[in-house]
Amino acid sequence: MHRRSFLGTAGVSLALAATAARARPLAVDAAADPDPGKFARPSPLAPIHASADRIIDIGACTRPFRAQGPRIEAERVGRHTVIHNYGHGGSGWSLSWGAAQEAVALAMATRQPRIAVVGCGVIGLTTALVAQRAGLQVRIHARELPPDVRSFHATGVWSPDSRLCAAEHATPAFQQRWERMARASFRVYQTLLGLPGEPIEWRDGYALSDVPFDQPAGGDGDDGEPDYAHLEWRLLRDLGPRSRPLAAGQHPFPVPHVRAYTQMTFNIAAYARLLMEDFRRAGGEVAIAEFADLGDLVRLQEKTVVNATGYGARALLGDDSVVPVRGQTARLVPQPEVRYGLNWRGHNLFVVPRRDGILVQAQAPGDFGNPDDRVDRAASEAAVARLASLFPAPAGA
Ligand SMILES: Cc1cc2nc3c(=O)[nH]c(=O)nc-3n(C[C@H](O)[C@H](O)[C@H](O)COP(=O)(O)OP(=O)(O)OC[C@H]3O[C@@H](n4cnc5c(N)ncnc54)[C@H](O)[C@@H]3O)c2cc1C
Repeated sequence: MHRRSFLGTAGVSLALAATAARARPLAVDAAADPDPGKFARPSPLAPIHASADRIIDIGACTRPFRAQGPRIEAERVGRHTVIHNYGHGGSGWSLSWGAAQEAVALAMATRQPRIAVVGCGVIGLTTALVAQRAGLQVRIHARELPPDVRSFHATGVWSPDSRLCAAEHATPAFQQRWERMARASFRVYQTLLGLPGEPIEWRDGYALSDVPFDQPAGGDGDDGEPDYAHLEWRLLRDLGPRSRPLAAGQHPFPVPHVRAYTQMTFNIAAYARLLMEDFRRAGGEVAIAEFADLGDLVRLQEKTVVNATGYGARALLGDDSVVPVRGQTARLVPQPEVRYGLNWRGHNLFVVPRRDGILVQAQAPGDFGNPDDRVDRAASEAAVARLASLFPAPAGA
């Protein structure tokens, strides 16, 4: 889809959006459940109040994609060791703990009791925490801290193979390391459930489609992107609940094909704060600093330096293998009663019921290779309008 036609739908759909806030709860016909004993009678779904005037925040940023996958390796530079941990594409939150364990193992091999971590996004923070837990003293050096880091604008779901690696680079060795990182991360996340502020939680959702799920839907705004490696369905099938088809009457949505899923969600505001507080509580120090190149990194006092600069590594190291993949997320006024997500295939709509707002994500053609992180409000308004079309106002309202 071209950007012009994508934006062109906004005006028409906004009219639908304006009426959505008045929609009543959507009843679900439990009598149509083919196996009522298996699943409890679903409660009515609270409608999402989707209208452009309820957008409270829009964030645009770039995923640090590398066709080869993340760079996690040690490089000797004079008397320093730089351990790179960057390039996690659209999977940084999901893989962070596992990637941190890999990077910290390399740091431990240098036998330095104090290390520097450059970068305070999710990768820098989790690396710093894992290093502290391994007994190291850690100072974070970064140009920006949360909430001003790119990580803060992520969608916030478990997506360990999203825009992570080109299919042709997914060698057996890569897959083995990826699986190790993903499983390690998953385990850590299960220890973060049920905490105050719900930094991590499992949420139900509905995948909607106009065509059967085994047929391509197209139209999701991701044209021109490479053939990514899809590893999760093959290597992590035993982790977490599976999705299941729903019959008409088991859901309220005006589409022919629906599957129910359950997904791990990161409430990024609460979670980023928790990571930062845990780091400081364990004696971690933070210094605001900007580095121009690798030479700058090895002027640091600490002889072991972890480079967790994400997309920043492209400029810092002149590493053109880091390719920006633009993404934009908008948040609608929080609705605590909305506890389900949506993924409308072929309509470029992905919704996450986060505590800090109903997150609405949309891709745009040309996102791959696009470093532009300016907000395109019209694109988010169009996505909100598509969402509103799923919640038509009741007749006579
Ligand atoms: C729209 C969108 C949605 C996403 N959704 C998800 C999702 O749902 N689940 C998921 O797992 N992942 C998701 N991701 C991917 C994830 O957000 C990234 O992989 C992750 O944020 C990368 O984190 P990072 O710490 O490497 O980088 P950043 O968050 O960019 O942090 C980099 C740090 O390095 C510092 N820095 C950079 N350069 C320099 C320099 N020269 N000098 C000093 N400091 C420097 C910065 O100030 C910052 O502190 C999404 C990404 C996008 C764009």
